[in-house]
Amino acid sequence: MTSKQVLPGDEIAVEEEYVAAEGTYVRDGKIYASQVGTLVLDDTECIAKVIPCNPPNILKEGDIIYLTIDDCRKTMATATAIAAEGTDRSIGSSTVATIHVSKISPDYTDNVAEEFRKGDLVRGRVISVKPSLQITTKDAHLGVIRAQCGICKTELKAKGNKNLYCPKCRRSQPRKLADDYGDVKI
Ligand SMILES: [Zn+2]
Repeated sequence: MTSKQVLPGDEIAVEEEYVAAEGTYVRDGKIYASQVGTLVLDDTECIAKVIPCNPPNILKEGDIIYLTIDDCRKTMATATAIAAEGTDRSIGSSTVATIHVSKISPDYTDNVAEEFRKGDLVRGRVISVKPSLQITTKDAHLGVIRAQCGICKTELKAKGNKNLYCPKCRRSQPRKLADDYGDVKI
């Protein structure tokens, strides 16, 4: 088995020897790459294919993603998607996300600032990608997973399941917490 990088249109094999598979096309008995990627000539199965290198991760409905909160407005929080669960590939689609106030908590809330603060790291689920990225944090496992004190930058500790506490400033603040706050394994 050989592997090398190829470009679309590169002649990679002949049909007499290989069957054209993903990432290729055939013309006049020759097999060409149809995408940028790694050429795989599998001599056991007699298959020629091109595997895309680091395909971008396009977010879709239902994906669990990690975000940082950028701003808390009256009816929504704005956030930046930084990673998707289950992959280390970077996000290839828009990372500008919003979390509407009605999609934050299973409990009624009309104050975004009592659920999130700027800089919080949040786990959320994608509920739509068009026309813009919309996130919910309603489930128990969704919500803030890491947060710093706005005054002294100390990492806040969970106090119950709806509050965070700064051990230095001795102040507590409400949050929509994920159920594993303080014990997150990404
Ligand atoms: Zn503090």
